Amino acid sequence: MKLCGGTAAGAAFVGVLDPESFVEAASIDIPLRKRIGEKTSICCYCGVGCGVIVASDENGKATSIEGDPDHPINQGALCSKGAALIQVTNNERRLDKVLYRAPYSSDWEKVSWDWAIDKIARNIKKTRDENWTYEDEKGRVVNHTEAIGWDGSAVVNNEEAYLFTKFARALGITYLEHCARLCHSSTVAALGASFGRGAMTNHWIDIKNSNCIMIIGSNAAENHPLAFKWVTKAMEKGAKLISVDPRFTRTSSKADIYAKMRSGTDVAFIGGMIKYVIEDIEKHPENYNMTYIEEYTNATLLIDPNFKGPADLDGLFSGYDAGKRAYDRSSWVYQLDDEGIPKRDLSLKDPNCVFQLLKKQFARYDVDTVCSVTGTPKDVYLKVCETYTATGKPDKSATIIYAMGTTQHTNAAQMIRSYSILQLLLGNIGVAGGGINAARGQSNVQGSTDHAILYHILPGYLKTPHPEDVDLEAYLKHYTPTSNDPLSANWWQNYAKYIVSLLKAWYGDAASASNDFAYEYLPKVEGDHSHIAMAEAIENGVVKGLISPGHNTAVSGPNANLERAGLDKLDWLAVWDLWETETAAHWKRPGTAPSQIRTEVFLLPAQASMEKEGSLTNSGRWSQWRYKCCDGPAMARSDLWIVTKLIKKVKELYDTEGGEYPDPILNLAWDYGGPPDVHKVAKEINGYDLEAGELLPSFTKLKSDGTTSSGNWLYCASYTEDGNMAARRDPTQTPEQANIGLYPNWSWCWPVNRRIIYNRASVDLDGNPFNPDKPVINWHPLRGKWEGDVPDGGWPPMSQEGTKLPFIMTSEGRGHIFAPGTLLKDGPIPEHYEPWESPVGNLLSNTQSDPAVTIWKSLVKGDASKYPIVATTYRVSEHWLAGQMTRNLPWLVELMPEMFVEVSEELAEEKGIENSKKVIVESARGKIEAVAVVTRRFTPFSINGKRVHQIGIPWHWGYMGLSKGDSANVLTPNIGDANTTIPEYKAFLCDIMAK
Ligand code: SF4
Repeated sequence: MKLCGGTAAGAAFVGVLDPESFVEAASIDIPLRKRIGEKTSICCYCGVGCGVIVASDENGKATSIEGDPDHPINQGALCSKGAALIQVTNNERRLDKVLYRAPYSSDWEKVSWDWAIDKIARNIKKTRDENWTYEDEKGRVVNHTEAIGWDGSAVVNNEEAYLFTKFARALGITYLEHCARLCHSSTVAALGASFGRGAMTNHWIDIKNSNCIMIIGSNAAENHPLAFKWVTKAMEKGAKLISVDPRFTRTSSKADIYAKMRSGTDVAFIGGMIKYVIEDIEKHPENYNMTYIEEYTNATLLIDPNFKGPADLDGLFSGYDAGKRAYDRSSWVYQLDDEGIPKRDLSLKDPNCVFQLLKKQFARYDVDTVCSVTGTPKDVYLKVCETYTATGKPDKSATIIYAMGTTQHTNAAQMIRSYSILQLLLGNIGVAGGGINAARGQSNVQGSTDHAILYHILPGYLKTPHPEDVDLEAYLKHYTPTSNDPLSANWWQNYAKYIVSLLKAWYGDAASASNDFAYEYLPKVEGDHSHIAMAEAIENGVVKGLISPGHNTAVSGPNANLERAGLDKLDWLAVWDLWETETAAHWKRPGTAPSQIRTEVFLLPAQASMEKEGSLTNSGRWSQWRYKCCDGPAMARSDLWIVTKLIKKVKELYDTEGGEYPDPILNLAWDYGGPPDVHKVAKEINGYDLEAGELLPSFTKLKSDGTTSSGNWLYCASYTEDGNMAARRDPTQTPEQANIGLYPNWSWCWPVNRRIIYNRASVDLDGNPFNPDKPVINWHPLRGKWEGDVPDGGWPPMSQEGTKLPFIMTSEGRGHIFAPGTLLKDGPIPEHYEPWESPVGNLLSNTQSDPAVTIWKSLVKGDASKYPIVATTYRVSEHWLAGQMTRNLPWLVELMPEMFVEVSEELAEEKGIENSKKVIVESARGKIEAVAVVTRRFTPFSINGKRVHQIGIPWHWGYMGLSKGDSANVLTPNIGDANTTIPEYKAFLCDIMAK
């Protein structure tokens, strides 16, 4: 059977196969094992996206959930959370009632769906009408309300995320966020500024192709276990694993090299490696891919001579305004020739060329200084440099895997930028086994980001209009980049096609050329409206009503006591979830009196992932379809159903009663049937040729004249006239594809099913793979086309006429060692700054912390003399983020029952702390209790001769659920990254004492 399946599958590709490789493909591909009566789904926990098979009985109750043996990523295996999935659906703790808590009440009361939908819709209308702004104080049209907030979610399906965005924008909501802000927003900013797209470059299976894997700011063995399997596959073939972490983790225990590093010092650590590479390139260019560096990165490009960096300005870049805590970035630009094309110095010697600026920037990052900053033993650090940079050879590749250990810092985007620069210097982007793999922690945080449940973007990473974008023309002028370079594809030149198609999807016939395609309906937003800003706006009474589906901010937000107190000030709060969460139950948390809290709260029972149908996008950009496999609690409904009910009711109210600016609501296209058909939504996201009435095959067919629609141009090609691409379960591959495990016929991957982005950087100027053993694409001169993966831009190789450079999303077509212009707020090249709270001074300059971060009014800073210990938060394998989807599962609670804090033996001795006894941890924001785990996994750091202790605290616990405990985020500061405001959860100051 195996052979037959493989043969049949391989036959489709026989035209390009030789017999030997045909056998190889057959042996790799296993026929589908989906059985009668069973349906497939995707795990609802992390961003690995493991496949599961759900069996159910005649009553629709799940009887078993097991790993899908046919799924190429997990191949039947599941981690502890995945293995416990059945307890998500079969669980007596699941919400099965629609609940309402009246102001000042100490109890929930049971209400009907109709009553709750009606009441929430009326609250929305009242709050919106009373707080509607047509124009700002400068007289510019804004058409928005700041009084309603939206917070969630990264666990809903793509179709639901898309409808959340559409619904919120139609209401004019500006405070629109979900947990991507808190986990990977810095990834999007940094990878976008480096390469043009803000997503993981490769995919999980591709890690097996690596020669060296550096896992930094991630404990993949524990938090992305089935992704880590592909690390071990690479190691079986001889790859080296480097683990960089303040704590000796499960990942470290598998590593060839464990390098301890104090939290928040990534730029120093990687900056030293960049210096090492630059010096080695100058001595041994033959060990590096100079074609890649010179032709595919911006190393040769010249920067404005007025630009100055931290080496000249004591940690700052040119243009800094201390009063505004912001930069004038006008000198962070290329020198242009008479034709407007960036000037280059192919010798890499010009002092203003990017390569020389990089060299100057990191000249201060010598090994001794770096190790004094990071606390890494010098011999270990040198071993890391030597091992990792050996992959600079054209036929070698290395990958960096990171997660929230990197993303949650005040200079997080710059940390990720430092990874990007290192990878560009080593020619590791676009190649098999290379790239930067941002490990996403929630099942659909990638999809919810793509569909823009974030205030600053629209679906497909289009920009939210600013009040200065007074009409569509001004908006397009603002956001459509231009390039005079004939070698630049400058893909964003297509911007108009994407925004007009989006407006057509949202407003249908009401969006026509004569009314700017209803551009006026979009709310205009000025200033920061991200998570921390929203918490401040709630605290200050600006936000009066909050809609929060599938998100538990009372546990996951920074400075949790402040966020919880903010919820008490809301007029109303509408939550929907599987469980009674800390957010929904904030009014009865320990230490509060419900009789003092006015907030009206709605808690609606939602369906779990296996109880509904739709797609979700994993960390590697695979959009995978999951089916309704079983029934949940009788009263539970899908997010699709809930948001549809709400918008229909709001529409009805505006239709019958009128109100402020009803047009975007009344004219919003929302015709998905009743109950809503998820396939209709998926098709709308893909988009149509409106004249032909057909689904479009690709975003290359989109137009700006209103004859096409697409809810998200990035997903155009996901649901075509050929069917639902995300639902594909065909494991067949050509031998070339099988060689590196591309699986192009399994699910669908954005963009246009391209599995490794920037893959035209994996070939030389003639289109031959730099690594002939692991080609991603290959130019076939006789056929005149690329083979292998979908090429990133179909143009011929660089040596041919009419070609384009491989980084098609950047304005000049090259990977950014220097991030020019306004891409980032705190520097075009990374610079080390200490965390906002740090026990030591910055050894690299007198600029202590990132000078461009926002200092919020409610921020309280801990003094190192009172709080001398560095704390970091992290996750454990058995629990999921804010914990509601694991702390209610008996199996997982039994495995990991209690809140704890990890303390080194040395610190325990100093403080008289005993293993397994209770301790108090205190920061400037609050204090918590936890059980002490005295361990050798932490050891003190020696920082410039000073002993610095660090402790580690899991952040999953709260005051609801089967397992309760204090929340780590009571301690964390509400300060965020300069570019994205992702909070600095990973390095803050505290003290610890025995209880
Ligand atoms: Fe796979 Fe992640 Fe689910 Fe574990 S939690 S089974 S690694 S998707």
